Amino acid sequence: MRGIAMLAGFTMLGVFLAPAAQSAQNQATAASVADAAVATWTRDAATAEAARSTKDTSKAKASEGDDAEATAQLLVSRRLIVPVLGVRRASLRDSFAERRGVKAHEAIDIAAPRGTPVVAAHDGRVAKLYRSLAGGLTVYQFDIDARFAYYYAHLDGYTDGLREGTMLKRGDPIGYVGSTGNARPDAPHLHFAIFRLGPDKKWWKGSPINPFPFLNDTAQ
Ligand SMILES: [Zn+2]
Repeated sequence: MRGIAMLAGFTMLGVFLAPAAQSAQNQATAASVADAAVATWTRDAATAEAARSTKDTSKAKASEGDDAEATAQLLVSRRLIVPVLGVRRASLRDSFAERRGVKAHEAIDIAAPRGTPVVAAHDGRVAKLYRSLAGGLTVYQFDIDARFAYYYAHLDGYTDGLREGTMLKRGDPIGYVGSTGNARPDAPHLHFAIFRLGPDKKWWKGSPINPFPFLNDTAQ
């Protein structure tokens, strides 16, 4: 159907242009008017497109920057603590950007002897207690206004009485350092991550934030 319509279009164009071909002058004029029109349209479209994309990009960048800045300020103001008892901030290593297999790590690993208490980095409710192949025994804790999730993995066990819905205060015990999941048995550690939750507040969905700059010593 479309092929026939196009064919008809070309034929009509041919009929229309045929008389013009009799006059070189007319043809040149018609062609240059058409070229000029196309050129103008193209230029306008290109300008509009460029303006639009510049505006969109700068707007997107600005809001991304604002968001990142606001998130950072909020996390600084919360004064999260290193979530493993007795581990100092100075001994932490930033491994957030390291590759782990096919993915980025997007968390930090806090090494400690098996059984060392793991504590809440900040206030908030336990959203999910979950056992996964990679994370082993894990806790997902939402922060006080469900903006972030704090994720604690490879636990050896949970603190007695910990339940989904339990309201935690910063420093409250949640479990013990271990190597459940895909951690090496001879290298127990807490895998700790922070996610910014999406609008649907699903415990398994969020964008990772590097916890490293935001962890403080307990005494502070
Ligand atoms: Zn890890």
